[in-house]
Amino acid sequence: MSASLDTRVADLHLHTLFSDGTYSPEELVAQAKRQELRALALTDHDTVEGCVPTAQACLSADIEFIAGTELTAEQDGHEIHILGYSIDLLNSRFLTEIGKFQAVRQNRIREMVQRLNDINVPLQVDTVFALANCRAPGRPHVARALVQAGLVGTLDEAFERFLKKNRPAWVPKFKISAADAIDLIHKSGGVAVMAHPGLNRSDEVIPAMVEAGLDGIECFHSKHSAATAQHYLQIAERFHLLVTGGSDCHGLSKGRPLIGSVRLPYRHVEKLKARAAERKAEAARQFPA
Ligand code: AMP
Ligand code: ZN
Ligand code: FE
Ligand code: FE
Repeated sequence: MSASLDTRVADLHLHTLFSDGTYSPEELVAQAKRQELRALALTDHDTVEGCVPTAQACLSADIEFIAGTELTAEQDGHEIHILGYSIDLLNSRFLTEIGKFQAVRQNRIREMVQRLNDINVPLQVDTVFALANCRAPGRPHVARALVQAGLVGTLDEAFERFLKKNRPAWVPKFKISAADAIDLIHKSGGVAVMAHPGLNRSDEVIPAMVEAGLDGIECFHSKHSAATAQHYLQIAERFHLLVTGGSDCHGLSKGRPLIGSVRLPYRHVEKLKARAAERKAEAARQFPA
């Protein structure tokens, strides 16, 4: 098939209710089908729990599935999100490490609720955990619980009054270094990609991440303008990085569903898969079974 006639597209950045999205795997895949996506990647925060059910739904819908996750990392004081693609879902090192990130998230929820209680906002921690119903809860779940309990009117109000950085219930989150996140993904046979660089505006950290083995950069994202995408395409070329893209759809939790708003040409998926095969072979050599 010649490239110009290839209309296949993918969305490689999606969330479900296994982290802070609102769609179940089945709902997400139904939306992907409506958007005529050829391939999708699930990238829930600090978890891969949703990957098996999403893979099953994709199989029924004849959509290619790529397992993924989105790790929160830090590089030179900047919060950097790193996407890990095609990781081995049964890799015990990987599962142990993300289990730690999940425990950090759960403890942070307890601390945020304690801080709310300290300022006489009577939210119960069990309410938040019941609503989140996943291993990787985050601030959006606290915000939703505050809305449902009638303690604030909107999610935005919850963030503005309580949850934003330096507001009374904000609790900093432990983050691994970007280099460690990249290394963990590689050791799990995966491909490491810097998420939405245009949101962080921290281009100065890119060379160090490339040095640490970064494979790709998310040039196309729902919050990137055409100029921003172009800027990162140039950076991808300069550093010989793979190009990826995704909507970062969280379902209905952030206004209209974003799935389908970024349509990554399939040739980039093919390059990602080729790199994943190399990373898998390397991990197998490094850690023979
Ligand atoms: P956490 O990982 O627990 O720190 O939560 C981060 C999540 O909260 C991300 O999905 C953000 O998009 C979301 N978030 C951060 N700030 C706001 C805000 N002001 N309003 C709504 N959502 C937000
Ligand atoms: Zn999120
Ligand atoms: Fe992110
Ligand atoms: Fe995301």
